Amino acid sequence: MKFSTRAIHAGQEPDAATGAIMTPIFQTSTYAQTGLGGHKGYEYSRTGNPTRTALEECLAALENGSYGLAFASGLAGESAILSMLKAGDHIVSCDDLYGGTYRLFERIVGRYNIETSYVTASSIADYEKAIRPNTKLLWLETPTNPLLRLVDIRAVAEIAHRHQILVVVDNTFSSPYFQKPLDLGADIVLHSTTKYINGHSDVVGGAIITNNQEAYEALKFNQNAAGGIPGPFDAWLTLRGVKTLAVRMRQHEENALAVARYLVEHPRVEKVYYPGLPSHPDHELAKRQMSGFGGMVSFQFKGTLADVDRVVRRLKIFTFAESLGGVESLVCHPATMTHASIPQKIREARGLTDTLLRLSVGIEDAEDLLADLEYALA
Ligand SMILES: *Cc1c(COP(=O)(O)O)cnc(C)c1O
Repeated sequence: MKFSTRAIHAGQEPDAATGAIMTPIFQTSTYAQTGLGGHKGYEYSRTGNPTRTALEECLAALENGSYGLAFASGLAGESAILSMLKAGDHIVSCDDLYGGTYRLFERIVGRYNIETSYVTASSIADYEKAIRPNTKLLWLETPTNPLLRLVDIRAVAEIAHRHQILVVVDNTFSSPYFQKPLDLGADIVLHSTTKYINGHSDVVGGAIITNNQEAYEALKFNQNAAGGIPGPFDAWLTLRGVKTLAVRMRQHEENALAVARYLVEHPRVEKVYYPGLPSHPDHELAKRQMSGFGGMVSFQFKGTLADVDRVVRRLKIFTFAESLGGVESLVCHPATMTHASIPQKIREARGLTDTLLRLSVGIEDAEDLLADLEYALA
């Protein structure tokens, strides 16, 4: 089956008991057993729940993976991956990273004597230099957040595999519709399903997909043993949201390209970051590695912090809020919101300045979005 068909059908059959077309919300914590060891594959809902199973199988199919695991949040999924490590292990990651991931590495995992080194995202040679004998994970985000630089997954995976290191790719920004990291050599894909996969800003959730059976068994163990699972209703909402992923992503991209082209011409805009622009430093890699450029656009505004505040207050359709990937357009100020947990000096050195704004371009009418920007930037 092709992608759009899988998004609607993978992991889902009409309900055996009733014929219901949509997977029921199995709102139960436990399951009747017929006798010692006699059950239908489900014993307790932390370990497994049929609504969650449908979501896990659907997401695995969308990433061309064999195994999927759903979590209560993207960060709960990240914690399950990091729980594969032990004290003394080392992680190599990129420097332009989701703020919450950075906080998890530095303030939780770091306490267990697991150190993380950060490499300039697009500099392939630097990944190899950062590898130590105790490096166990190479953790990438591409496109990066919020500067939308790309990491060459295939090239980095080749380096990592020469050293027996597992490659994790946070694929939240592209969604499996535009990028399939497992096909490019990654071992584990992570999603905040809160974003494009659910797509309607009404659930917080996460997922892990892999083809590596050994990693899957360790991750499945961690999911049950640490317990960061989504409830059946959240799994059901996400399953409902993902059915329209393909059509949503196409519209997100079309609108994002229109917004990026508009901003490039605007006199109050210093710089636009969008991998779909030929001027973007990773445009060629984006064309090779992704089947589309996504719906995120960042730009540097010419002005002061007070001007930035005026812009976000005047925007009407773009709502000033954290998060991304919903049908509605959002604008966020990374320096004080998503990336506030990164010390200012480190932030500024990475180009994440106080006048940077990040747009999650929704699927409203593009003309209305451009008019909204026109009014606010004026
Ligand atoms: C939001 C996000 C996360 C964290 O996911 P939650 O669902 O908020 O826990 C991780 N990575 C990226 C790229 C994100 O945007």
